[in-house]
Amino acid sequence: MRLALIVIPILFLILITSSVQSAFAFDYFKTMGTMYSTNPVYCIMEPDPEVEPRYEYLREIAINSLAEWQYKLEKKTNGYWNLYHQSYSFEQHSTRTTEDFKQCNAFINFISEPSKDGTLGSASANLEQDYYWLEIQTQISHRKISINLGEAWENRVSNMVIDETLPLYDIRNTILHEIGHSLGVEHFYCMPMTENCIDKSIMFGSISTFKGIIKPVTELDINMVVRIYGDDGFLGYHTPVSLYCLALPSGRVC
Ligand SMILES: [Zn+2]
Repeated sequence: MRLALIVIPILFLILITSSVQSAFAFDYFKTMGTMYSTNPVYCIMEPDPEVEPRYEYLREIAINSLAEWQYKLEKKTNGYWNLYHQSYSFEQHSTRTTEDFKQCNAFINFISEPSKDGTLGSASANLEQDYYWLEIQTQISHRKISINLGEAWENRVSNMVIDETLPLYDIRNTILHEIGHSLGVEHFYCMPMTENCIDKSIMFGSISTFKGIIKPVTELDINMVVRIYGDDGFLGYHTPVSLYCLALPSGRVC
């Protein structure tokens, strides 16, 4: 009798706390509205060695990024989560088009021209030809505004553009993120926006660079992909997922 009296108030307290949390936290994913109907083959298109001497490392981190998604999905459910990959040297692909690579469900392509707007990567779906095109930046441009005091008025502000080579770990974070898009997840959003939002998901809309941060695919990301495809993986039966999905710990509510 005495025990019951102690247990009940504690349970009550837990219930209140959890309902308060879900009333104020509206973290959610958006989805791309696209999904694979087969275990996808990712074709890694290596960059020109003359322009990007790190081409071998770039191939390796692309393979490792695919392995991280696959490993974590397989750990979560017992489904068909194989992400296949093939890689092509610059020589093998530079004069060819996507038409010549019909076996590829997604392309991972590296761009070594510095992006002017600070874009790190992009993902687009070609619905007609049924493939994903992932573009990964290996160089970036920084715009810097410097003010030189004491000079002529018209020279007072100078707008400098600095081209920088992106570190491999930043490129890897971008590849993980773009693979997420190809798996059907758009971005992760926090409501309200908190400082740790950026760390909750690889699918957060921006990634800090030049900080030496290695970002993982998180539990929330994995739950969302499982929510899209179901426990069976790429070969399973799946029900359509709405474009907004709440990121609850169970990952099952959309
Ligand atoms: Zn994105």
